[in-house]
Amino acid sequence: MPRAMNRPFNFSAGPAAMPDEVLAQAASEMLDWPDASGKRCGMGVMEMSHRGKEFLSIYAQAEADLRELLAVPANYRILFMQGGGLAENAIVPLNISALKADAGGRGAADFVVTGSWSEKSFAEAGKYCQADLAANGKSDGFTHIPDASTWQLNANASYVHICSNETINGVEFHGLPDLKALGSRAELVIDFSSHVASRPVDWSRVGLAFGGAQKNLGPAGLTLVVVREDLLGHALAICPSAFNYQTVAKNESMYNTPPTYAIYMAGLVFQWLKRQGGIAAMESANIAKAELLYRTIDESNLYFNPVRSDCRSRMNVPFFLRNESLNDAFLSGAKEAGLLQLKGHKSVGGMRASIYNAMPLAGVQALTGYMQAFERSHG
Ligand SMILES: *Cc1c(COP(=O)(O)O)cnc(C)c1O
Repeated sequence: MPRAMNRPFNFSAGPAAMPDEVLAQAASEMLDWPDASGKRCGMGVMEMSHRGKEFLSIYAQAEADLRELLAVPANYRILFMQGGGLAENAIVPLNISALKADAGGRGAADFVVTGSWSEKSFAEAGKYCQADLAANGKSDGFTHIPDASTWQLNANASYVHICSNETINGVEFHGLPDLKALGSRAELVIDFSSHVASRPVDWSRVGLAFGGAQKNLGPAGLTLVVVREDLLGHALAICPSAFNYQTVAKNESMYNTPPTYAIYMAGLVFQWLKRQGGIAAMESANIAKAELLYRTIDESNLYFNPVRSDCRSRMNVPFFLRNESLNDAFLSGAKEAGLLQLKGHKSVGGMRASIYNAMPLAGVQALTGYMQAFERSHG
């Protein structure tokens, strides 16, 4: 696909690249938003009341498109919130940690720690409930997902938390655990911030999913929550009203002012995703991009990726130069070649290429071409 604006390829982990077409459309609608029939309303989306008919139509379309794209069943609610993934680390236990607790008892939740993000979720939840470690991949530097048969599951846990794609460590669940088959009655909670809409979700295994929008859905400021209806209404008394899922659901995400412009932008991304052929088409494209990049890394003598091949992320690909003294030269050459934001997260170092939905195959081809040329000239 030709690029609408001849921009460099942006490999940021988040906030991340948006599709050119979406940015161009938003620019053309910035001052005066047209409805579906093309009729202009005299206002930009940022200037609209969230309760006016114009914004309500934007909201309804975004919700319906997302429900269709992710095949969200009718008994799950879609909430558009604020606070990001980190706030959800508190909001989830505030809402559902007491789900299976005996009356008066303190709720409990289990955590499968496979990288930096699930580690943070585990630490935060302990403020609101009994948080237990079911498994921890830290001892091997977060390069694999502990097999579900080894997880230490608490019979009283209300939920089991996993981060289904670890953005920093590049570890992804390529299938969601079946908690019932593991003998657990807990709900599965997934933090899918950095791979939502990159692949289908098996909702039969999920009670609640949350994610910040700024990786793969739109701009920062919007947080997506998808929650099965029967999990609503169990919040702790101390749960802030604006973060009570039941309150948010009852008010169609308008208990307080939602992040209107971010919802509009995400809505444009949802329409773009539909034009690309939906999630199945995105998944095929993402597999092709990831395979090309990992193959290039594995076949080289300069680069390596430490993650076990069965749980390597299709979205976030950390890689290292065996000669770390070449890191700065690699990054400055990449920038000159129009390949931006490849520096790895400060906690792991090296490089990281985030190749979300908006990254075309041509971007990954440009990156792998650059990596091979760099290796030849520095090998
Ligand atoms: C980015 C990210 C977060 C944090 O999101 P914020 O919006 O900064 O709070 C949480 N979880 C995962 C998996 C992420 O990638």
